[in-house]
Amino acid sequence: MPFDRYQRNINYMRISLTDMCNLRCIYCMPEDMTFRPKKELLQDEEINRLVILFAELGFEKFRLTGGEPTIRENIVDIVGHIAKTPNVQEVAMTTNAILLRLLAKPLTEAGLKRINISIDTLDPKKFKQITRWGNIDDVWGGIDAAEETGLKIKLNCVVVRGFNDQEDVIELARLTQNKSWQVRYIEVMPFGSVADFQKTHIVPEKELRETIGNALGPLTLLNNGKLEGEARIYQLDGAQGKLGFISSVTNPFCAGCNRARLTADGKLRLCLLRDKELDLIPFLREGASDEEIKLHIKNSIWYKPWGHGLAHEVYPHKRVMSEIGG
Ligand code: SAM
Ligand code: SF4
Repeated sequence: MPFDRYQRNINYMRISLTDMCNLRCIYCMPEDMTFRPKKELLQDEEINRLVILFAELGFEKFRLTGGEPTIRENIVDIVGHIAKTPNVQEVAMTTNAILLRLLAKPLTEAGLKRINISIDTLDPKKFKQITRWGNIDDVWGGIDAAEETGLKIKLNCVVVRGFNDQEDVIELARLTQNKSWQVRYIEVMPFGSVADFQKTHIVPEKELRETIGNALGPLTLLNNGKLEGEARIYQLDGAQGKLGFISSVTNPFCAGCNRARLTADGKLRLCLLRDKELDLIPFLREGASDEEIKLHIKNSIWYKPWGHGLAHEVYPHKRVMSEIGG
């Protein structure tokens, strides 16, 4: 089992399959974003090898993300490989769902179990405004297809002041009255070149709960406030689904963090919001043995930072969210 020096069991790996995306969400990346050349990214066989090594080290849960993971060539094969790797208990994905209508079935057949779909508003015009390029009908097509194939669904909403922090968050919460989905509200976090925008547009969890509660009635805290993953879970009276609040900025969950991340360009990153990384590409491309690579990974995990430094104005400068994998 990979433990860090604070006795946290780091067993959840989030792999970014590409830094590219078919959308340009305002809180995630600039519209004129430039992407890394393909040769700088991990190749399929390199990802497959690393997954085996991670699983041997004790990683049990894998989430594929990006950029947009569904635009990666061979995505179905990659999922299939991870799902079949010994010791792997779960493969999940975070996606904007634009391409999910066609991919939900093959991905499920390949072994995908859960899917988090990003949808920040139910209003088609605002959806276009927030994503710059997106058509919400494509997302609904993806959600319907995911439901049909039996994938467990969560909806992710990044809350941005002045864009979707009023009626939009309420309408998303209303969905849980008749659907067993979990709608998760994510506080916007600062990264690199878009940090100033993010810092001035954050809506704290407490304010958000009040907005939803005032419109739809009381929110009951579930699990005695124990986190589910990174989310605090609430429910509206009589609702089938739940509401999750991910408050990395105003109520961080660093003490219980069990994650590591692998970026599309092969960097092992132990904290989403800290720039320090271990580059695995040289080991992979210059003949290091499996045992050597595992030793470097274990060592890096041992030094996983205690937590982020947002309270002290320390935030990541080198990458935006899509280059790390949310
Ligand atoms: N493209 C996929 C998607 O949007 O679901 C996966 C990658 S995206 C970077 C992963 C998650 O990060 C999404 O739910 C997205 O809304 C969220 N995200 C992006 N930028 C963020 C930011 N600055 N703060 C908080 N969450 C962010
Ligand atoms: Fe693309 Fe996801 Fe970033 Fe939106 S949040 S631009 S869909 S990577």
